[in-house]
Parts: sequence; structure tokens; C-alpha cells
Amino acid sequence: MITRKLSIALFAGLLASPFLAGTAHAAPASLAAYPIGNTAALTKSPLYTSGGLPRSSCPERAVTPGSVASAKSYVTPLFTCLNESWAAQLKKARIPFSKPRLQFISRPQRACGQKWPTHAQGIYCPSYRRIVVLLDKHLTRQAEDLFLMDVIAHEYGHHVQNISGIERGFDRLRHRSKTEYDEQLRRLELQAECFAGAFIGSVWDSLDRTADDWDFLLDATRESGDENNKVRDHGKGRNIANWLSRGYKAAGPAACNTWVAGSAMVA
Ligand SMILES: [Zn+2]
Repeated sequence: MITRKLSIALFAGLLASPFLAGTAHAAPASLAAYPIGNTAALTKSPLYTSGGLPRSSCPERAVTPGSVASAKSYVTPLFTCLNESWAAQLKKARIPFSKPRLQFISRPQRACGQKWPTHAQGIYCPSYRRIVVLLDKHLTRQAEDLFLMDVIAHEYGHHVQNISGIERGFDRLRHRSKTEYDEQLRRLELQAECFAGAFIGSVWDSLDRTADDWDFLLDATRESGDENNKVRDHGKGRNIANWLSRGYKAAGPAACNTWVAGSAMVA
């Protein structure tokens, strides 16, 4: 079914706040209100034991705030880096790799045969294996921050989930309530965010960035959680920031097994 794919989108957060620091701590899997059980495709993916992403160089191109053309020329080489890094990683995990397609749009429009989700800055369409990025002024205005990189790396994370069988495992999960389904969806989303952090961590040394730039992204992420939406599908801001940070520190997917985390970590 493709309807749920509409939810796979990263919501853009704008306001950075210094007041919402704090990191969720790992809870034992037994504290999960809705345990995923023995769904090996999710809980035991070979990605988790495939080691760190290759430490590689992926220097950023300068972006002129507000310029769509300039944002495109930022994303294109970044996309190449993502292809190379994840191709190498999947090879280590012995999972066949294929590249996703990449499409830019400048205003919300139908994509992958569906209406553009409200507030989405990017989407990934599993059945089309396509990343669609909305390069509107909302995103290009803050293109100097790491936010644009995070959006692309997050959507790429969904592609990794798709080609590694995680997406299919998710599709096959059963749920007894909307609340249980929402938690499953958050595990999927938070894992994509963790994969984004893993990639950023693996290229960090080649970026001309400071710790403040990273903290700014974490702060913005904390402000972009479900607290701002009616939909409970991406997680609380502090949890999104936590999984982003976990991936970043590990610089690999080993830290990204959201499927065995306690419920508080994926709330
Ligand atoms: Zn997503």
C-alpha cells in the first residue's frame, strides 16, 4: 500500500532554541509498550554489524541563501557522496545496492503519483526509489546551515531502509491500534534520521564546520518534532535530535537500531 508513504517526510523546523537541551537515555528493550518481536529484517539487519561508514571527503559547496540554482549545485555532489558511502556500506553488509533517483521541485506538487504532504521538505517514494526535494524559499533561505544536508541524508536513509529490506519488514508489521502504528512509523523515521547522522559523522572532518554548526542543527531538530504537528509520526524533537546525534557519534548504522529501543526513546 502506498498511502503510508505519504508520512515519510521530514518536517522542517525553523526556530532554534537554546532552552530545550537534554538527551533521552537508552531504555531496555523490555520497556517497549509495543515490542517489534522477532522481526529479523528490522531488529537484526546486517547493517547494524557492518561497521562504520567509510570516512570520506565530501566538502560542501557554498550556497547563496534563497537561490534554488545554488541549492541544486550544493545537493548534486552531496548526493554523489551519499551514493558512494552507502554503496560501500551495503557491500560490507552483503546487501545489493542501487542508487535512488533524485528529483527537485520548487513548489509543492504531486510527486510519485501523490499529493505533496503538508509541511514536507523532502519525501522518499519506496516504490519509485525516488527522493523528491522541495527546494522552496523555506529551505533555500537556511541553506547555509546543515539543515539541507540533513534533509537529503534523511531521505537517503529511507532509501537505505528500502533496499535493505527494512521498509518491507515495516510494511509487514501488524498493529492493533493507531497508537501502535504511529510508534512503528516513528521507529522507521527515527532510524532514517540516525542514518542521516551517521553519514554526516562520516564526512564531518571534510566539512568546513564548527561544533556550533552541529549544535545549531541539533537545536533546530529539537524544535521540529511532533510537538509542532498534529501527526505523531516523526517523534518528539528531543528524540529526533537524540537519534541524529547517536548516528553522528557512531558514524555508522550500528547505533541506529530503533526497533529494539524502549518506547520512551521513540516517543
Ligand atoms: Zn522521513
